[in-house]
Amino acid sequence: MRFVYDALLGNHLRGMRHIESPDRVLAVAEGLRDAGLFDDVAPGRLALDSEISRVHPPSYIAMLQREAAATSTHAYLSTGDVFIDAESPHVARYAAGCALVALEYTLTEGKPSFALVRPPGHHAEPARGMGFCLYNNVAIAARAARAHGFERVLIVDFDYHHGNGTQAIAGDGVSYVSSHAFPAYPGTGGIDDQRHLQDAVSLNLPLQARGVASEGFVAAWDLLVRDVCARVRPHVLLVSAGFDYVAGDPVGDLGIDASVAASLARALHAAAATYCDGRLVYVLEGGYHVPSIIESIGLIARATDTPSPRESGAQLSALGDMEHAALARIGATLDCY
Ligand SMILES: [Zn+2]
Repeated sequence: MRFVYDALLGNHLRGMRHIESPDRVLAVAEGLRDAGLFDDVAPGRLALDSEISRVHPPSYIAMLQREAAATSTHAYLSTGDVFIDAESPHVARYAAGCALVALEYTLTEGKPSFALVRPPGHHAEPARGMGFCLYNNVAIAARAARAHGFERVLIVDFDYHHGNGTQAIAGDGVSYVSSHAFPAYPGTGGIDDQRHLQDAVSLNLPLQARGVASEGFVAAWDLLVRDVCARVRPHVLLVSAGFDYVAGDPVGDLGIDASVAASLARALHAAAATYCDGRLVYVLEGGYHVPSIIESIGLIARATDTPSPRESGAQLSALGDMEHAALARIGATLDCY
C-alpha cells in the first residue's frame, strides 16, 4: 500500500508530554518498516490556502497562524481543547497536504493509499479547532475530490469518537457515516442524528461507551458499508481511520480486538472495487496505543478486496438495544434517500 508520510509530522508538540505525541506517526512508521510494510512511501506537501479554505475560512487559517506565532512553548488554541506550538500551523498544513497527495495518487492509480498523519482532523469544524485537531484532513481531501469532478464522496469514520467536524462539512455530494462511543466526547452523533443533506447523507451509529463485542462491531460495519454504498454509490471512498476503539487504548477503548481492522479493510476494499474503481484513501485520526496502531494499519496494508462473508444475525445480535435502534434509523434514512 502507498503511504504518504514525512518525519516532519513529528514537529507538532515535540518535546511536550501529551498523549497525541509525535510517536503516533514516528514510531508507527518504524514499526511498519520493521514489518516490511513501509516500502512504498511518498512525501506529502503543504496544502495550499485555496485547498484548506474549501473547509476552513481564511479567518480561521490566519487565527491559527497568529496564535501559534505568539506562543513561547505551547498553549491552547483559543477555540478549543487542542494544544499548539510554533510549528503547529506548518505541520497541520503538511498533514492536510499528505491527505491530498494520498488522494491524488489514488485518483491517478486506482489503488488504495494511507496518509499517516498527525495532528488528526475529524473534530476540526470549519472555524473551530478542537479535540487535538486543527485542520480537518479528511474533509479537505473530500472537498478536493469534489473539485476533481467526482460527484459523490463517502467518508467512513470508525474512530472511537464522533467526527463532529466532518459531519459539519458533509453535504453537497459529501456523505458521512460514523460509529463512535456514546455518550462520550464530543457528545454529538446520537441515535436521532441521521440527516438528509444536499446530495448526501450523514449517518451515526452510537456504540455503548462501556464497550461492544468485536464481532458486533465488524458485523455493523459490514452492514453499513454495504447498505450505505448501495444507496450513496460513492465515486471516492475516504476513511477516517482512528484506532482508539481498540481494547487498551488510553483515550478510547471500546474493548474491541485489534484484529477487526482486517475485516473492516476487506469490506472497504470490496466496496471501493465495486463502486469506486478502487479509489480508497485512509487518513489516520485517533489511536494512542502505538502497538495497536501498527497492528491495525499492518492488517489494512495486507488487505485484499475479497468480499467478506455476509454478516450473520448472530454477530449483529452481539450488539445492544441502542445500536439496533440506531441501525434501524439509519436503514429508514437510507430507504428514503
Ligand atoms: Zn478518537
